[in-house]
Parts: sequence; C-alpha cells; structure tokens
Amino acid sequence: MKEDYSLDTVKKIFTQFLAERKHRKTPERYAILEHIFSHEGHFNAELLYNAMQKEYRVSLATVYNTLELLLDSRLIVKHQFGEQVAQYEKTFGNTMHNHMVCTKCGKVKEFSDKKIRAAIQSKRFVHFESTHYSLYLYGVCSKCKAELNKKQ
Ligand SMILES: [Zn+2]
Ligand SMILES: [Zn+2]
Repeated sequence: MKEDYSLDTVKKIFTQFLAERKHRKTPERYAILEHIFSHEGHFNAELLYNAMQKEYRVSLATVYNTLELLLDSRLIVKHQFGEQVAQYEKTFGNTMHNHMVCTKCGKVKEFSDKKIRAAIQSKRFVHFESTHYSLYLYGVCSKCKAELNKKQ
C-alpha cells in the first residue's frame, strides 16, 4: 500500500468531499484540517480547540462540526477509550498501530507489532477488502499497577 501523504492530497480529498455533500469550503475548516494533519497522536475536541486559538480563531462549535465532516470523509477516526471523552486521530498517512488502554487512569499508549500486522493483513475476506485496522488492548499501566501494589 503506497500512498501520497502530503497535505495537498488530504486537502484535495476534503475539497472533493465538501463539494459532493454541498458543504461550504470555509477557511476555518481548512485551518482545522491543516492543524490535525501537521500534528501527531490522539486529541480530543477541546484540546484541538485550545491549540487552534494560537493559529486561527475558531469556535468550539466549528471544531465539532468540522470533526464530524472529517469523520464522514474518513480522514480521521474516533476512538472511545473506556469512559473518557472521545478522542480522534488521523487515518491518512498514519501508520497502522495498536492501542494499549489503561482501565484505571485511561492513559493510551500506541504500539506496533509486525507479527500482528502480518497476521491481519494476510487474512482474506470474501466480500470485504480491508485497508487498515486498529486493535485495543485493555489492562493496567505500570504506574497504576504500582499504586495498586502500594495499597495492598
Ligand atoms: Zn494507568
Ligand atoms: Zn492511535
């Protein structure tokens, strides 16, 4: 799977999506898109909103609205890690990775594993072509584990 991960490509996909769905191509939406694709990792709506204030002033409503559009256009995915607020991350140009979620503090760590990846990618389905995956492991992080041991 070889793809062009440039910001231009992402913008093109978004522009096409907005045109097809007859949504307005506002500079705010592009500013948010640009911010997301020039940063790594997970984020929630509020974090994104706060980070945006330094670059391009947008309202929280615009952030939520744009996140919905980006989800619809499959440029980002939404994660619901346990009870936490929803987190988002870009799909495009992101390496396939897995998530370790601590069920005590909610901390999320990413990891990659070649064997897991090979096993999943070698799987063939009759009526389905897989493009990417995400795996969640739930457990207790070392910090919480130490806290738990202290209490015993
Ligand atoms: Zn923890
Ligand atoms: Zn991730």
